[in-house]
Amino acid sequence: MARPEKNRRVSKPPKMRGYKPFGIPKCKLEVVQLTMEEYESIRLVNYEMLQQKEAAVLMNISRPTLTRIYNKALKNITKAFVEGKAIVIDGGNYEFKKEWHRCKKCFKLVEDKRSHKKCIKNNENSFEEFIQLNN
Ligand SMILES: [Zn+2]
Repeated sequence: MARPEKNRRVSKPPKMRGYKPFGIPKCKLEVVQLTMEEYESIRLVNYEMLQQKEAAVLMNISRPTLTRIYNKALKNITKAFVEGKAIVIDGGNYEFKKEWHRCKKCFKLVEDKRSHKKCIKNNENSFEEFIQLNN
C-alpha cells in the first residue's frame, strides 16, 4: 500500500478556478485537472522564478517530490493547451498557510471576511456568501 502523502503547503489559492480555451463548443469541452500543489509548483518555479530546491522548502516537501509535482503540472498544462481542453484547478493533497474564502457574489479571494464590505454591506452577518477554500 502506498504511503499516505503529507499535505503540501500552498501559500494562497489561485484567483481563478481554472481556464477554458475559446473556439471549442462547450458541449465538446473536455477537462484536465491541475491539483492545487501542481498549480503552486508552477507559480513558484515559473512565476516567482525560484530554484526547485527553494520551492520545495516553501511547500514543505523534498526536492525530488517537487520535481515530480512540477513535471506533472507541466504535462497537464501542455495536454490542455495542445489538445484544447479546459483546466480545472482543484483537489490534491495540500493545505493553505491561512484561511481563504471566495466571495460567491464577485468571486474575489478574501482573507478577512469582515473586510470584504462590498458584497456584505447590507447584511453584516451574511458570511454564508463565502466559500471556504481550505480543505
Ligand atoms: Zn464579493
